[in-house]
Amino acid sequence: MQIVITSRRSVPSPPPAPRRWPEALKAAVRDPVELCRLLDLPESLHEPARQAARLFPVFVPWEYLARIQPGDPHDPLLRQVLPLADELASGPEFTPDPVADTAATRQPGLLQKYAGRALLVTTPACAVHCRYCFRRHFEYQGTPRTAEAWRPVWECLAGDPTIEEIVLSGGDPLTLPDASLAALCQQLEQIPHLRRWRVHTRLPIMIPQRITDQLVTLLRQSRLTPLVVIHANHAAELDAAVADAVQRLVDAGIPVLNQSVLLRGVNDCAETLVALSRRLLELRVMPYYLHQLDQVSGAAHFYVPVERGRALIAAMRSHLPGYAVPRYVRETPGEPSKTVLA
Ligand SMILES: *Cc1c(COP(=O)(O)O)cnc(C)c1O
Ligand code: SF4
Repeated sequence: MQIVITSRRSVPSPPPAPRRWPEALKAAVRDPVELCRLLDLPESLHEPARQAARLFPVFVPWEYLARIQPGDPHDPLLRQVLPLADELASGPEFTPDPVADTAATRQPGLLQKYAGRALLVTTPACAVHCRYCFRRHFEYQGTPRTAEAWRPVWECLAGDPTIEEIVLSGGDPLTLPDASLAALCQQLEQIPHLRRWRVHTRLPIMIPQRITDQLVTLLRQSRLTPLVVIHANHAAELDAAVADAVQRLVDAGIPVLNQSVLLRGVNDCAETLVALSRRLLELRVMPYYLHQLDQVSGAAHFYVPVERGRALIAAMRSHLPGYAVPRYVRETPGEPSKTVLA
């Protein structure tokens, strides 16, 4: 048998890895032209990247960068993080606050749209800037940064016994140090009618070393039942280090779910979505939602029509066990839950 060795160019390494997670966050690539150069992208992409990054800055950790195929402007992981000229030209139906977060604000930092659960905007920081992010224009200025500023939120939650679950969101709550998470948790635990805390995060994918034993213990030892919702859009995001991080959560008995966004040029293909679900199952992660894109300004180039999304779900259903097919949902402002499309 002839062995063919293909030369796969690889991304140049940053200063010594592995780094602890706070250093990994600090080391992330923030310069759009550097991102293009590191990945051998055509020069013609540099200037548009620079311009689009003025609207929403670039932020890509090295751990994720290493999973992108250099020289391929169509790489599905790259598309999630590379600013393109398309961002400067999204139509009028793409708006700064497509899901009406502003109208759902009960207190600065506290959003509620649905019965029984409320969402905390714990931090403006993320471990990656996703170009399709529905909060890319969110006004984080008013959200609490100090214990004092959080107090009205605790008072509001304590006064509303209908709320039983808290969704920690942001930004990404796992960019906070463990001490801050522990302090948030302590406040929540003092509110007797709260039962669960749910963490929505891309950290296990972007910087998997964030999932330390200490963090797992913190999540586990609370009176509140923990859930973790990760956010992967493509199987290539889920490499061995990510698998290891997720395994630590699952082994600790924490339910781990995945949500994805249906994105043109990233995962709008049946094989890609089936492969993602299979990889998630390998990691013992349950596919939860496939979100229809929120129509945020700057993200029009990611749009996939609902009919196409429904056809993709039908194709997934014909290849996978029922539990491996995510619910295809859209968020419509004013509705009492996400709207199930398929
Ligand atoms: C999506 C969302 C939730 C969670 O909804 P589930 O259907 O329970 O996953 C909670 N609060 C807000 C504000 C949301 O946008
Ligand atoms: S991690 Fe979430 S909040 Fe942060 S940029 Fe990506 S989609 Fe937006």
